[in-house]
Amino acid sequence: MPMSATEVRDLSKEFLEHVYAIPEGEKINQCIQCGTCSASCPSAEAMEYGPREIIAALRAGMLDRMFESNTVWLCASCYLCTVRCPAGIPFTDVMYELKRLGVKKGLYAKGTPNAVMARIFVDSVQRYGRNAEMRLIRLFFMKTNPLKGVGMVPLGLKLLKKKRLKFGVKKIKGIEGLRKMLAAVEEEEAQR
Ligand code: SF4
Ligand code: SF4
Repeated sequence: MPMSATEVRDLSKEFLEHVYAIPEGEKINQCIQCGTCSASCPSAEAMEYGPREIIAALRAGMLDRMFESNTVWLCASCYLCTVRCPAGIPFTDVMYELKRLGVKKGLYAKGTPNAVMARIFVDSVQRYGRNAEMRLIRLFFMKTNPLKGVGMVPLGLKLLKKKRLKFGVKKIKGIEGLRKMLAAVEEEEAQR
């Protein structure tokens, strides 16, 4: 369901607060729309909006448009836009903030692969203290493309045979300590 104007305004405000908390984040206001970021970005061709357009949309308060697009989820975190930006804007970190906000608030099209994978990965780390590959693959295909998952079974069996995948997952030692740390980070995030 499309967001109301008030929801978009509140979301934009919350997002900008996070961006301003990033080192050099306030430089987002110094973008000169030169397009160097988009020209440098290896994923720009596949993105619905390139990095330059993202900055323009953010400044125009059109955050909802970002989350309706595939752009955020195609960023490969290569940092080319950041190192080449003449205004020193940490654009890769801005993308990270967009991803965090999108995952936290469920703002992505149903089945968006990267967002689904991020959620399953974080859940595994919270449960076991580590990634659980078999679980990740199983849940990922169930939530995105079950038919494709069936097609991956032969490959999975080969990997199992070669012991590159295994059933089950052991919790790490000291999982309680890790959970406390994660809870503290989440609490700090919530207060930002
Ligand atoms: S390279 Fe920097 S200044 Fe140029 S459009 Fe991109 S973010 Fe703006
Ligand atoms: S960090 Fe992301 S947005 Fe920036 S150039 Fe790399 S892929 Fe593109």
